[in-house]
Amino acid sequence: MPAETTCLQVAILGPLPRIFSYAPPAHTGLLPPGIRLRVPFGKTTRIGILLGYGDCPTDIRLKPVETVLDTQPLLPEALQQLLHFGAHYYHHPLGDVWSTALPTLLRQGRPLPEVAIRAYQLARPEHLPPRPGSRQMALISLLSAAKPMTEIPTPLRSVLQQALKKGWVETRTLPNPSICAQPLPYPLNNEQSHAIQQLHQAQGFSCWLLDGVTGSGKTEVYFETIRPHLEAGRQVLILVPEIGLTPQLLARSQARFGRAAIATLHSAQGDSERLRIWTQAATGQVQLLIGTRSTLFVPLPRLACIIIDEEHDPSFKQHQGWHYSARDMAIQRARLENIPVILGSATPSLESLYNVQQGRYQLLQLRERATKASLPGITVIPLRRQYLQGGLSNTLLTACRDTLAADNQVLLFLNRRGYAPAVLCHDCGHLLQCPRCSAAFTWHRQQERLRCHHCGNETRWPADCPECHSTALITAGQGTEQLEEVLRQHFPHIPVWRIDRDALPGREAFANVLEQIHLNQAAILVGTQMLTKGHHFPAVTLVGIVNTDQGLFSADFRAPERLLQTVLQVGGRAGREERPGKVLLQTHLPQHPLIQKLATGDYQEAAQWLLQERIQAGLPPYTALTLLSAEAHQRAPIQRFLQAARHCAPASLQVSGPQPALLERRAGFERAELWIEAPTRQEMQKALRIWLPRCQQLPEARKVRWSVDVDPQSL
Ligand code: ADP
Ligand code: ZN
Ligand code: ZN
Repeated sequence: MPAETTCLQVAILGPLPRIFSYAPPAHTGLLPPGIRLRVPFGKTTRIGILLGYGDCPTDIRLKPVETVLDTQPLLPEALQQLLHFGAHYYHHPLGDVWSTALPTLLRQGRPLPEVAIRAYQLARPEHLPPRPGSRQMALISLLSAAKPMTEIPTPLRSVLQQALKKGWVETRTLPNPSICAQPLPYPLNNEQSHAIQQLHQAQGFSCWLLDGVTGSGKTEVYFETIRPHLEAGRQVLILVPEIGLTPQLLARSQARFGRAAIATLHSAQGDSERLRIWTQAATGQVQLLIGTRSTLFVPLPRLACIIIDEEHDPSFKQHQGWHYSARDMAIQRARLENIPVILGSATPSLESLYNVQQGRYQLLQLRERATKASLPGITVIPLRRQYLQGGLSNTLLTACRDTLAADNQVLLFLNRRGYAPAVLCHDCGHLLQCPRCSAAFTWHRQQERLRCHHCGNETRWPADCPECHSTALITAGQGTEQLEEVLRQHFPHIPVWRIDRDALPGREAFANVLEQIHLNQAAILVGTQMLTKGHHFPAVTLVGIVNTDQGLFSADFRAPERLLQTVLQVGGRAGREERPGKVLLQTHLPQHPLIQKLATGDYQEAAQWLLQERIQAGLPPYTALTLLSAEAHQRAPIQRFLQAARHCAPASLQVSGPQPALLERRAGFERAELWIEAPTRQEMQKALRIWLPRCQQLPEARKVRWSVDVDPQSL
């Protein structure tokens, strides 16, 4: 038997498919798993995470670790387990999972910042400068105040630094602030009280679906549920789908629980700020943390409850690299930390409704609006033979006019940015396509660019048709930019606010427009998906869904579910007590069963109908689904790889394909996929564990880029 020696097992941060072994550094004791190490890697060094210890043959010369970066594990045990689970379940390299979970600066090897709250105070009088200058005097009088000083004004910072060095100013650490909630401004209604009572009884791990119509007071239920935790010094995590949502929720939380111990984390913050908040959360200074997807991986030593607001939202799923679902991983975290998790939505995902039916989640319902405002009625506008102006029917335009005349606001939803989704030649029909993608260019008239929404490629409007050289190039279809233009022509004296990523690229721009909208004067809001997320527009009394049919024709089997959720979410943003709202749906298919269900406005009923369809089609949540996607510059190697992969699949998997991806070419890459089904998620996992290592061994695998998406959310 060859001799063996102890070595360190290290996951290098990044998408490397294996674990590496290193020799322990000299003169260190036992290093705890979960710390960062800088290790030699090829000609450079990389940051890795110590996973544990292994045995290596002595005849292999192991490289020693270069630097030990931490003394303590970066993440507590439960979170380390969560990442291991996430790597295992989504079949993704552990080093990349860690890399996704850590703040950028930690990933790069920076030390943890010092974040204890420190107050400055004057040292004993004999240490003070005998003849203080004017700025020194200013600092002395500032610090002579009775209140402990934690913030020093910028002009005095340099004097402060000198004073600290000389020793006439000292610091002391203050205890963490604790939360004291403001009383509720109104009594809770019966449904709210019932939900809160149930949630207060939750002990240990349990998963709750809070299904409450828009405006039913879900946020109050969250707040009352977490109040005792916060007042007792424990921590709570709220995940939201998008940053656009955070300002309102943050403002409401601060109004209720004070500012001191509440923080948000999102991608618009700088790396240092993110790391500071991360560290404050990890040291218990932040008690209520609100954030988007990756906030799920922030250490919270006294975590008592997790809330996932708008749980149906597809942005909880990551579409690049590690394809994890933050919602599903949050449930796993709650299980590992043995705490309750609450999923809230007015339009719960079919998965969650199914899990309620299976008895896995407990259902709490709020059926009525908290303010006693009625839910908007939904009316279908058949478009057949109607004259359309910029995609708007006369019926919808007349309704807009009436609404504006009554000094109310109109909201028009169209899920297409830009002026027109296509440009074509009037003479030969040639469609201007992105040369790198199998998709048409979108015309952005304000910027005068043809832009590909899939790869970002841009070009100018060509002088003539590349096929027949005719100059008769025309746009086809409508985007929000065109809708805005048409509306300005129709209503020249009314402000029109366009709400999409082009018009409002940053948070600030969005916040400014929201402020204008909340002045509640007659106005028209035109927007995309951005409008469906969390914001309430109380002065909006008319909602128009301009292109309902887009969601009926998509090849993505989730499109009808998304359409249903979108319409009810957009519709639900409108109206308040004294001014009820209404929703108009423009469609060419008024007889379509989904449109008919939509018109009733009853989400539960429509969702049950969609679930029946999923049963019949053998689709999730009744089966488990995985996509194996491959891309390469040529089609042939993709076909060869996917065929070979299909051949070595275990019999328990039902594999179809290779078939072209919904977007066949993206950024110069041809794309195709295998669609893999199994009766349950457990069986899927068992089979993938046998199959994917086989795929990795295939010689064809080296000729393509391939990836696995377990429980894909969009095709
Ligand atoms: P949701 O999150 O379900 O859409 P919110 O929590 O935002 O609903 O509540 C909608 C509105 O109703 C808010 O303006 C909130 O202040 C108000 N509200 C909530 N609960 C009550 C209640 N019990 N009585 C009166 N108003 C309430
Ligand atoms: Zn032409
Ligand atoms: Zn493109």
